[in-house]
Amino acid sequence: MAFEFFRRKPDTFDYEESRICKCCHHAFKGRYCNICGEKVVEPNERTFLAFLDNLLNAFTFLDGKFLKSVKLLITRPGRLSRNIADGSRIPYMKMVSLFFVANFFYFLVPFFDSFNSSLYSQTTLMGEHSIRAKAIVDKELVKRQVTMEEFKEKYRAQSTNLSKLLLVILVLVMTVTHMALNYSKENYFFDHLLISLEFYSFHLLVNMLILPAIILLLVKAVATWGWDWNNLLQDSVFSIPVYGLILYFLIRAQLTFYKQKWYWAIPKAIILFYLFTETIQLYRKMLFYITVWTI
Ligand SMILES: [Zn+2]
Repeated sequence: MAFEFFRRKPDTFDYEESRICKCCHHAFKGRYCNICGEKVVEPNERTFLAFLDNLLNAFTFLDGKFLKSVKLLITRPGRLSRNIADGSRIPYMKMVSLFFVANFFYFLVPFFDSFNSSLYSQTTLMGEHSIRAKAIVDKELVKRQVTMEEFKEKYRAQSTNLSKLLLVILVLVMTVTHMALNYSKENYFFDHLLISLEFYSFHLLVNMLILPAIILLLVKAVATWGWDWNNLLQDSVFSIPVYGLILYFLIRAQLTFYKQKWYWAIPKAIILFYLFTETIQLYRKMLFYITVWTI
């Protein structure tokens, strides 16, 4: 809980007392009904302070579970999914929630636009695709009788909406890839989905947020001594640690989550890595066409 100061009182709950569940009328001992899971409500939980505490917890995801999950995500990739798949769920945030929190932060502070490419990136930085994209945009401007500025604004809004949706599809693509590479009767679709959600949470939080933030601070810090390290923020330089971390995650996921031997983990991780980079390329191109079609 984030707001422990509301809970200074020691636990006076009587765990030995036999109770009748208000919900299913089953007799049980303890704080929760062991048939339906209903919680025993004590008088002090109905106070105004308890209400405030609940309210604050409902609006903050920066509670113990969030931090614990992120810590595990960073320090031991694949462990969070393994623990959840093995049935230890209470200590952690739900994987889907973690993914959407990562998503939320990414769109809040977009250091890099790899998932929500700007019209500028689409029409200038993407080689062959950019030439076609530029021609399409020019045609659209004439057809719609709008200025570049107006079109850009509409494009940005629609592209942001769509990329949030398409990110879910990226997770599903990776789920299918994991399933194909690690097919076994013991692993269900849900398990492959877990590790794929963990991968994208890691990628969004670590590679797209924490790492660029650290590098940005570093560049700013050395600039005060008159050094120019701006090159570190260039796509071609920045992608080196990012690709390294992606590969690192995928290898650790094979070792920890799928319990593969290293000589299987490495080639499988390389295949996943290759398919991931290809999917991202395809995703960015698709995002352009779908955005233009749907504005
Ligand atoms: Zn019950």
